[in-house]
Amino acid sequence: MTSLQRDILRRHGLASICALLFNLLFILSYHWQSPDPRPDALYGMSLLYWLVQLGMLFWVVDGRSRHYRDPSMSLTFLAWGITFISASLAVAPENRTLVLMTYLTIMPYGIFRLTWKGFVLLALYTVLTYSMVMLLLHWQQPEVWLRSKELLVALTLLLSLLTYAVLGREVAVLRAAYRRKNQELRRAMQRIEELAVTDELTSLYNRRYLLQMLEQQQALANREGLPFALAFIDIDHFKPINDQYGHSAGDQVLAELAKLLQQSVRQVDVVARYGGEEFVLLLNGQTLEAAKHSLQRICQQVRNQRFSAWNLPLTVSVGVTEYCYGEDSDSVLNRADMLLYEAKGNGRNRIVAGLAPVQLTLDEQSEALACSAEAAGAAGQSS
Ligand code: GH3
Ligand code: MG
Ligand code: MG
Repeated sequence: MTSLQRDILRRHGLASICALLFNLLFILSYHWQSPDPRPDALYGMSLLYWLVQLGMLFWVVDGRSRHYRDPSMSLTFLAWGITFISASLAVAPENRTLVLMTYLTIMPYGIFRLTWKGFVLLALYTVLTYSMVMLLLHWQQPEVWLRSKELLVALTLLLSLLTYAVLGREVAVLRAAYRRKNQELRRAMQRIEELAVTDELTSLYNRRYLLQMLEQQQALANREGLPFALAFIDIDHFKPINDQYGHSAGDQVLAELAKLLQQSVRQVDVVARYGGEEFVLLLNGQTLEAAKHSLQRICQQVRNQRFSAWNLPLTVSVGVTEYCYGEDSDSVLNRADMLLYEAKGNGRNRIVAGLAPVQLTLDEQSEALACSAEAAGAAGQSS
């Protein structure tokens, strides 16, 4: 059962309990007041009411109404309740005061659920069914049910219900404003979340997001033995571009390179701006060899492209490494940074790849994984 269905069931459950109490009150009042009670008609009517009511409840709770504009079918439930009350008046006219009070009692249920139009419709339907029954009674016993007096009562009922309708409209306006505000808030929250992980200039992920992803990837690698590679990419001689063509040309180069990097990797990979003119690629599921091939392709694409309005050629230096089972994120980041430093020292425009000093073989990793799983199992049993 979804939370919406649970909510609907709770509301209809409460309303049904109310309806049951009123129903019992009707029967009791009828027995006390009627000089010549004919309970069969009222019982039969009550039975029919509850059969339909339970059928509708099942329909709603089972989720069959979930595609309707109002999945809780409030208007239908209320209209059915009004029909029953009006019909019971025809059988037990002694209950008229109770009937009038019941109309006014069940109306507020609609205030929070119905549209304003729905509410006015329901009010008119109530007065119409009530008036039809009173007309029938007047026709049967004109000396008991006086036309002018009954007309006044019907008008008073109409006025009372329309007062509710005005109140309902106020509530509808408030509800709409509340919904709108909620949507705006949700959109603002989404935007804040995006901004918190995005670099403004390049629209790539920022360092904070990269570190989060690295932690996740690391946990996956330690648990499942899934390899991943991490590469530091730094633009060669970027400062002279700023100096010669201006800061905005430098910004343009950064944004265009970011786009190229983003387009050159798979969706599962993460491209982040680590800072200044340094980017980091997190290549999920790739060993060092595979990552080297990907990076060679990317470096070639950089060399082939011209950047900014000045059509500037560009090269990058790359340090790339593969995550080693059990190490922490700082260690893998530092290693890639050192390798980048080496690439710069060796003359730039190149990739330097390297593994951790003690890189476990695949067999050793599997063994370590099995050991840690066993240890986790033992800890679980002892706790
Ligand atoms: P190397 O080949 O050794 O990497 O030399 P480099 O000139 O690329 O490196 P250096 O670290 O000396 O200079 C990096 C420059 O990047 C300095 C800084 O002004 C510039 N920079 C950092 N962030 C931005 C930015 O957001 N926009 C622009 N236009 N420049 C930036
Ligand atoms: Mg640089
Ligand atoms: Mg740099």
